[in-house]
Amino acid sequence: MATEAANLERVAIIGGGPAGTSCALTLLRGARERGREIEVLLVEPKRFGEHYNQCAGVLTVDESLKELMEELGLQFPNDLVQRLVRGYVLHAQDDQILLVPREGDSPVGALRRVEFDEFLLNEAARAGAVVLPYRMVDLEFQKNRIIIYTEGGTYHADVVVGAFGLDTGAASVFARRTAYRPPPSIETLVTKIHPAGLEPIEGLLDDYIHAFLPRLPQIEFGALVPKGNHISIIIAGRRLAMRDMQRFLAMPQVSPLLPQGTEPGDCFRGTFPVGLAHRFFGQRYLIVGDAAGLVRPFKGGGIAAALKTGRLAGRTLVAHGVTAQAGAAYMAECRDLRGDVRYGQVLRWLVALLSGPFRMEAIIHLARQSPAMRQALYDCVSGRTSYRQIFREELTSSLVAQAAWACITWPLRGGRDLPK
Ligand SMILES: Cc1cc2nc3c(=O)[nH]c(=O)nc-3n(C[C@H](O)[C@H](O)[C@H](O)COP(=O)(O)OP(=O)(O)OC[C@H]3O[C@@H](n4cnc5c(N)ncnc54)[C@H](O)[C@@H]3O)c2cc1C
Repeated sequence: MATEAANLERVAIIGGGPAGTSCALTLLRGARERGREIEVLLVEPKRFGEHYNQCAGVLTVDESLKELMEELGLQFPNDLVQRLVRGYVLHAQDDQILLVPREGDSPVGALRRVEFDEFLLNEAARAGAVVLPYRMVDLEFQKNRIIIYTEGGTYHADVVVGAFGLDTGAASVFARRTAYRPPPSIETLVTKIHPAGLEPIEGLLDDYIHAFLPRLPQIEFGALVPKGNHISIIIAGRRLAMRDMQRFLAMPQVSPLLPQGTEPGDCFRGTFPVGLAHRFFGQRYLIVGDAAGLVRPFKGGGIAAALKTGRLAGRTLVAHGVTAQAGAAYMAECRDLRGDVRYGQVLRWLVALLSGPFRMEAIIHLARQSPAMRQALYDCVSGRTSYRQIFREELTSSLVAQAAWACITWPLRGGRDLPK
């Protein structure tokens, strides 16, 4: 195996977001530890600061994230966290509930994603990755190598790692040249409001993230996230248009939370995977992060998942090189994440079901009385734990029965006779 693994001399990674940089750092570190050299080309056209990857920048800074960063040879950059979040307010159409972490739960932080991406890319460069500030425009798979065509030059590598997120151009190149097919996705629109210039503002939204399940046709969910000096506003759904953002901002649950007299800035479009990609590994290629759909489809936690899959791909390549076993080993390494995607899809379907008249309100009412339901809701919204764990350990049969009963009887009672 060592000889086969040693045939890996150069890896090209397409995309320098969390998945790509994590893969680069793992490859460089793993090779060094084995006394080998692997050249890593990191192809990333964005200048972070001027350009950015769509994100609310919410991250649970728990032990597993810190360990992951340590495995990459990094310390988690605490100084980039702009705000510690105290909890979530979950809004249904006619009711809301405060969801707070348990004593001892890891803090949830909000950071500026550009700063985090810049930090990771700089660290990858410092570790020895050759950062090519270009866009990959095509690939050519030859017998023993891959040619990478970019807007700034042509390169070759033994293996190519696709870490391009949901970029449609990059995805269509991979889909044309390999059996890869991008994951299903939903659209997002993001804007922000700066209530008072650029200085940090204390107690913005009382340091709570507000999550909404509005009954608007296009919008599946929305969120207000307090950052250092602004509020990020996100909606997700299908066929979103600017007017959907306007409708969301005008909702009676949303508008009172926003500082009066301030206008939102530009709207940015993004996409979010809601399922797995098809064939995210094959002869001389591996796909990581969002591009593989390896992110939890309802809540996200996409940054941590991207870091994790980049690391798994890097570890696989160091161990297996350009061999037939590499793809299977990568699939095995990703087993937990792949499994959790399925649980997340079930949860998303359940939430869609509950978004009908009164039912989410019934769950919120139950959660007020039941700490177990409150905990399950907090974990679903915060992504603190895996969906698998929520389904297997928190949603006990008695809790599910209570929830079902609450939902069935709620419309019959018009939701009015139960005290809040
Ligand atoms: C609106 C929104 C809000 C979100 N909020 C959160 C959140 O609060 N917390 C969280 O954990 N996750 C969040 N996510 C998810 C998170 O942003 C992603 O899961 C994460 O960024 C995935 O990382 P990645 O490295 O796979 O892809 P990306 O971060 O998308 O990085 C891909 C990189 O590839 C580069 N690239 C693309 N095409 C090419 C090409 N042809 N050539 C070279 N380079 C290319 C891009 O420039 C980019 O830098 C959010 C997502 C959206 C859309």
